Amino acid sequence: GGDVSDDLIIASGERKVAIVGGGLVGALNACYLARRGVEVHVYEYRGDIRQMEHVPGRSINLALSHRGRSALARVGLEDLVIQQHGIPMYGRMIHATDGRKKVIPYGKAGQCIYSVGRRYLNETMLSEAETHPNVHLHFNHKLLHSDLKTGHMVFESNGQEVQADADLILGCDGAYSAVRRQMMKAPRFNYSQTYIPHGYMELCIPPTATGQFAMEPNYLHIWPRGEFMMIALPNQDRTWTVTLFMPFAVFDRITTPDELLEFFRENYRDAIPLIGEEKLIKDFFSNRASPLVSVKCSPYHSPKALIMGDAAHAMVPFYGQGMNAGFEDCLLLDDLLTKHDMDLERVLPEYTEVRNPDAEAICDLAMYNYVEMRHLVNSRAFLMRKALDSF
Ligand code: FAD
Repeated sequence: GGDVSDDLIIASGERKVAIVGGGLVGALNACYLARRGVEVHVYEYRGDIRQMEHVPGRSINLALSHRGRSALARVGLEDLVIQQHGIPMYGRMIHATDGRKKVIPYGKAGQCIYSVGRRYLNETMLSEAETHPNVHLHFNHKLLHSDLKTGHMVFESNGQEVQADADLILGCDGAYSAVRRQMMKAPRFNYSQTYIPHGYMELCIPPTATGQFAMEPNYLHIWPRGEFMMIALPNQDRTWTVTLFMPFAVFDRITTPDELLEFFRENYRDAIPLIGEEKLIKDFFSNRASPLVSVKCSPYHSPKALIMGDAAHAMVPFYGQGMNAGFEDCLLLDDLLTKHDMDLERVLPEYTEVRNPDAEAICDLAMYNYVEMRHLVNSRAFLMRKALDSF
């Protein structure tokens, strides 16, 4: 933190970049910027997750695919992440209502996406960023106000107000971004958000009595049921994170253990013994369904700021590409910083110009897959469709 005036920054000959948000995209961005020798400050609302026993939040694991891997590769993290902590998934394993299963491969033999733990990924990137002496991590810093023309920021930290300045603010503060909220005050900023009727809830399949995976581990398991669906991704500790997607109206109708078990018997019968009746009841009723939002906006830049990741393009999770697209954002920014020799007046507008159509296309594909995963996954049309790099 500290009060640093613009003159001082320029006189010191060093550029100062503030990254707001130390989640997946912010942490990767810190790894990228660190390598340019600029002074990097990451301001994260939460405490240091590396020191927490339990990290609150959503989607315990994520599907990492080609785009995300390429972005990790440039900062030397791809092998570490996928070889030590990635569980390959070679296709979707579809669970029919009668318990029968079938596999739909993602691509040619050997092609796969990886299930990776969110916490592990985030911690690995924070620790990599921190190995660079020019990177400073500030936890428990919540951005309250920012001036995107001057680069001035005000944070709340442990009940105190902290001021800081930067030559560039990278808003990597997620779907409800405070940096984006500031951008929205500028004229000619386009913005739209859509909540879908579905929410999601995470449940868990524990390992078997002998400590094994309770299902075939190298697949993304899907229970498509028309109006609802359930998916499961494997974790390192041989548990499965199960995600139930259904309209809030349906979540609301399930109010007693009997109603829950009846719903599962009807729709996800084969999953009941895997989760366990007692655990299913306990987890379902101690959890709450979370909403799913899709955000489109443009431009992504202000004179001294750029929004990236979910801050710029939150999407529904059905294409498995939110994080992957956010990682790719870091790759693009890096390319443009090189191309224009760090001249932000050229980098930032070109970033918006290049990235906006692609990001909106992925948002649209994700929304399309929302319908497809529930309905088409059982049909011939789906099987004949070219396998895409997605859920
Ligand atoms: P976030 O991960 O949300 O991080 C934002 C960070 O900013 C947080 O650490 C937050 O604490 C911090 N912050 C927020 N406000 C402030 C503030 N005012 N000041 C300071 N810090 C702040 N993507 C995939 O690629 N594959 C998947 O399989 C996948 N599955 C998903 C499943 C579900 C159920 C959901 C909901 C999403 C899924 N996604 C997936 C999408 C993925 O989670 C997001 O795209 C990704 O987390 C975006 O990263 P981010 O860093 O932009 O935002």
